[in-house]
Amino acid sequence: MTDGMAEFVGVLHVHSTFSDGVMSLAEIREWALTEELDFVCVTDHSKRLRDTRLAEFCSECERLSTNVLLVPGVEFEHSGRHVLTIAPADVLTTLTDEIAVRDPETVRQRGGLTIWAHPSLTYAVSLRDAVATPYDGWEIWNRKVDGPAPNLPVLSLLRGLGSGREILSFAGLDMHEQIGDTLPRLSLRTAESELTLASLIDSMRAGDYTIVIDAARSMTPNSRAINLSLSLRVRSYARHATTRARCTAAALKHRVLTGVWP
Ligand SMILES: [Zn+2]
Ligand SMILES: [Zn+2]
Repeated sequence: MTDGMAEFVGVLHVHSTFSDGVMSLAEIREWALTEELDFVCVTDHSKRLRDTRLAEFCSECERLSTNVLLVPGVEFEHSGRHVLTIAPADVLTTLTDEIAVRDPETVRQRGGLTIWAHPSLTYAVSLRDAVATPYDGWEIWNRKVDGPAPNLPVLSLLRGLGSGREILSFAGLDMHEQIGDTLPRLSLRTAESELTLASLIDSMRAGDYTIVIDAARSMTPNSRAINLSLSLRVRSYARHATTRARCTAAALKHRVLTGVWP
């Protein structure tokens, strides 16, 4: 703890057996304890959390939240786009795929947070519309989709939006089974000494966190400062080339389908 602020390290975007992950919430908790994490945002797929399953999922996260905070979240899906939503349980249960994906302002007003998941995977469907939708953040690094370095085209797209738009950069794991190597974590700073869902959402919304790869390599959510090692940079540029090609193909496909450039 420094200057009265507490620091908590955790990860975003993990799937459990409540949707298509192979680890149960109890196993995720065990894994988090060995990784010395303070929190895990579990964001299971909305289509597997219908009816009473969502409430069950939320109370199971609460029950298992000893020594590590299991944050219940949902990965909503609409218009070919995936959106991670973190919100109090009583708010999560009021949301639908359409609200979370098309109307993040409503989620915000209800106290929740929305993050456009793996943007490059859904470019082909509606890039312009997605860019215009006011999500709190974008997952500029999805460990499963983007590999061991952030997605540079997504990062440059985000930077290219210019001032006037405050969009946070997030790194997520999209973990369905245990990942062996590079694990981007979020290091949150909170004014309270105990981490709660409310303080976690507040810090994320305020951009009071750093994406941490290890002690020497980190990036801030506004993405102005990136400090990556050379090997990571090389991998990220290689990744850049492939994603760029994929984005161009997606943009062309979009133009063919709609007659409009995204
Ligand atoms: Zn997804
Ligand atoms: Zn996912």
